[in-house]
Amino acid sequence: MFDISRRRFVVGATTAAAVFGLDRSVEFLPSAWAQGGPVETGLNPKKMQFYRFTMGDMEIFQIFEGEVTRPHSDGFIRNASVEDTKKALAAGGLKDDIVPNVFTVTVVRTGGRTIMFDAGLGAGTLPATGRLAQNLKAAGIEQKDINLIVVSHFHPDHIFGLMDKDNAQIYPNAEIMMPAAEYGFWTDPARTSKLPEGVQGIAKRAQATFPNWKNIKQIGDNAEVAPGIRSVSTHGHTPGHTSYVLASGGRQHIVLADITNIPQLFVKNPGWHVMFDADPNSAEANRRKMFDRAIADKATLGGYHWGMPGCGTLAKDGNSYVYTPMA
Ligand SMILES: [Zn+2]
Repeated sequence: MFDISRRRFVVGATTAAAVFGLDRSVEFLPSAWAQGGPVETGLNPKKMQFYRFTMGDMEIFQIFEGEVTRPHSDGFIRNASVEDTKKALAAGGLKDDIVPNVFTVTVVRTGGRTIMFDAGLGAGTLPATGRLAQNLKAAGIEQKDINLIVVSHFHPDHIFGLMDKDNAQIYPNAEIMMPAAEYGFWTDPARTSKLPEGVQGIAKRAQATFPNWKNIKQIGDNAEVAPGIRSVSTHGHTPGHTSYVLASGGRQHIVLADITNIPQLFVKNPGWHVMFDADPNSAEANRRKMFDRAIADKATLGGYHWGMPGCGTLAKDGNSYVYTPMA
């Protein structure tokens, strides 16, 4: 079983709370976001609602869920300064006065099923997020047609969209697969009180909902979630963080989830440790491993925080990587 030392988690907890616990009912939302109007991050410059491509028998969609910004703060990247962060943003063609982020949900149609990876932050939480339902519709997908939801990890921007503000299920008819290591970590009440206060809200909300849902199935590493789709443990960002490898027609696409955050900062600098990585060294090791695997296998990749279109290819550049978006 994985464990996170309290100290490590606490290092980033003050501001992490701001992002981890976005549920206003638990008062984790920082005023800078709660009051912010629509944001312009520059991470969806073509204003795409979705991006679609095919791979063998699979139809793959990247659905834009929303975007957020945060003020710069020391420790956001544990081993890089605010100045270095600003330089990297500018070099990546982004504004450097704030730190941008974007949420992108992957949906795959294959074998007559509609499979969604993670569920977004949910509607009504932040002004420029919660657009999943409307953008699914734009892509020709009805929420009720989603048969299977596959979860990467339990941070709010990935799971709070599974439930409404009263914690009722939004997808009661879908099967929901969750990494067993992640489920075990967050739903263990004995562990919750040992977590820093800022992230206890995630654990409490998971405990108030998931054990009562009959449509959840816990899965392990290298599990087949559907024909042609397998789980890969990529722990580090969280104890049970899991990516998914899709294969069809002799090709591969990897749903990375949060192996890395925005490419302008963290693909370019794979050694940078964002504060949200619970175990930064494991996170970096799995990041490099999956990037190298994708390059060796000529796989395409999708990143939850990569900005639209949210998918593309990587190439090695010395000790760093270069991301080329598909569109
Ligand atoms: Zn995330």
